[in-house]
Amino acid sequence: MTELIVGLAGNPNVGKTTVFNRLTGMRQHVGNWPGKTVERAEGHFKHGSYEYDVIDLPGNYALSAHSMEEIVSRDFIVDDDSDVIINVVDAANLERNLYLTVQMMELGANMVMALNMNDFAKKKDHIIDIPLMSELLGFPVIEISAKDGDGFEELLTTVEKQASNPIDSSAKLSYGDELKEHLGDLQSLIEKDSNLLDVPSVWTAIKLLERDSIVIEKVQKSSQSSAIMAEADKVAGHLHDLYDAGAEEVVANARYAYINGLMAEAVKRPDVEKETTTDKIDRIVTNRFLAPFIFIFVMFLLFHLTFTIATPFCDFIDEWFAWFGEYLAGAVGNEILGSFLQDGIIGGVGGVIVFLPQIILMFLFLSILEDSGYLARAAFTLDKVMHSIVGLHGKAFIPMILGFGCGVPAVMATRTMENESDRLLSMMLIPFMSCTARLPIYSIFIGAFFVANKSIILLSIYLLGIVVALIVAGILKRTMFKGMSAPFVMELPTYKVPSLKGVLLHTWEKTKGFLRKAGTIILGSAIIIWILSSVPFGVEYGSQESVLGMIGSAIAPVFAPLGFSTWQAGIAILTGLVAKEVVVSTFTTLGGLEEDDEEGTIALVHDLFTPLSAYSFMAFCLLYVPCFAAIGAIKQETNSWRWPLIMCAITLVTAYIVAFLIYNVGMLAGFG
Ligand code: GDP
Ligand code: MG
Repeated sequence: MTELIVGLAGNPNVGKTTVFNRLTGMRQHVGNWPGKTVERAEGHFKHGSYEYDVIDLPGNYALSAHSMEEIVSRDFIVDDDSDVIINVVDAANLERNLYLTVQMMELGANMVMALNMNDFAKKKDHIIDIPLMSELLGFPVIEISAKDGDGFEELLTTVEKQASNPIDSSAKLSYGDELKEHLGDLQSLIEKDSNLLDVPSVWTAIKLLERDSIVIEKVQKSSQSSAIMAEADKVAGHLHDLYDAGAEEVVANARYAYINGLMAEAVKRPDVEKETTTDKIDRIVTNRFLAPFIFIFVMFLLFHLTFTIATPFCDFIDEWFAWFGEYLAGAVGNEILGSFLQDGIIGGVGGVIVFLPQIILMFLFLSILEDSGYLARAAFTLDKVMHSIVGLHGKAFIPMILGFGCGVPAVMATRTMENESDRLLSMMLIPFMSCTARLPIYSIFIGAFFVANKSIILLSIYLLGIVVALIVAGILKRTMFKGMSAPFVMELPTYKVPSLKGVLLHTWEKTKGFLRKAGTIILGSAIIIWILSSVPFGVEYGSQESVLGMIGSAIAPVFAPLGFSTWQAGIAILTGLVAKEVVVSTFTTLGGLEEDDEEGTIALVHDLFTPLSAYSFMAFCLLYVPCFAAIGAIKQETNSWRWPLIMCAITLVTAYIVAFLIYNVGMLAGFG
């Protein structure tokens, strides 16, 4: 006989006592938990070669330190007295019941879920995909009827299997990138003290944020106490700044986001009874047919607002830099030094800084989309498309959308993906997502050729990136990255009006990165481009006879089939390898900043391209090899040069093919 200690846990009124009575019959006794005034019901029975000891845990909704019942229940789970926890759940009120479930998952409890009250769920027309739910949660879910005694045989054999193969139920729990990142810092401190590791470190971290008095007391005895408490305060403060809410609320929201995602994936409910505002919005926003249109509309709005609001500011900065460059050149007197300042520094760096308003707005709107909860929905809806066409999990879409901001954090965000091969694949796709560094390129070309339809053209470029990424993903998934990805819950946070402070903080964090780049990489490249445009001495600045012109002329023929064979285009693509802003600063160093569009860079671009070749050039810039920083990020994340090199090859070939198609099909269609 093997002895099995099993705890029954669940909300009140889910049928726990009915299950308990059915299992133990008359062989039960009721007493108190040692030293506590909390009732303890315990019973024994035999099943096969197992001798069960079942404890009915005090019914509750949470595992905080607020009530004695909750403390008794969680101590029972933590102290490892039990082999398996049976989580009895009311299928007709799944959402509310899961709140306790996720808290037991935080504890890593070795769990089996007994899904009860299925007759009520059926009456309400709730259809639960039990195998999927079990896969998403990472532990077995068994349908039972406590009242009629159905499903108990399966429940017990599953419990026995689970007892000999314990699982860590915290493994599949996910609370979103932001929280994960901050919890991670706290967890690594907690993990330094083995005395704290009787429970998953994630649990201790969460409880510290919730200011759980018992956990705080325990941590205070640790050798790492001061470091851990300081970090917990820091994280709580930071979360407060971001969300304008206490850490406890942020954690609760993260749990509900996980539950929402799980419900949306595994449970079908009739629309009528969904009553929360989030549900109402979601009925439209995640509607299978409307969702893609809403996504495109939101994107369009994003670009349209970015452009219309930013343009006057950009123009103002542009005029100011033009005046300042002129003034500086005049003031220094020396011709070479003057050109260095005016064309090299002001032209190169200023030419990119001009787009700062657009970049800030883009980051600002992306932060609003992210913080309001829409971005998660976009990824969720695209999950279905991605899964069926591409065979890639929708979770891959979150790093991809973050790629609209910058590829470097996007590559790091792939860490949340479970499956290694999926993670690599999404890294290969991120470079196709148009990052803010490419925005200035489009601005220049749209300014020169497509002023009348600027938002549409910009939207089309971004969509082109997504479509190409999906096609490439489809091809790679069938060749290099075979195999289906494991299902995984995507968190769906409730919609909320983002806090101003949180949005500004996110925006500033990202803008800072851009400014740093302007002061280093872009400045350095601008200086090199200026030097190469000025040597050999005596040559006309920025002419084809300069070294820059010669290099450009040498590579230009390669791009002739794509519609742009000028040396300036060639050199811009070459220098753009460093960072995409440098494509623009190459043109602005050559063309100069002028207050009037009839002269300067816009005019230069106008001379070098036709509308069709301009579009082909934009598409090439969108798709070809990303900047050094993004390549470096992939190298760092994969710890080898193999994947960054493969990515460079894939993007280069794709860019060439797509630009070739655009130009040549366009020519045939008469757009030449
Ligand atoms: P506890 O509070 O979790 O211990 O829940 P109880 O075991 O006391 O059950 C609450 C009520 O639900 C009782 O009246 C049970 O008879 C009823 N009940 C339990 N299981 C089922 C079920 O599967 N279907 C239905 N319709 N009622 C059930
Ligand atoms: Mg009861």
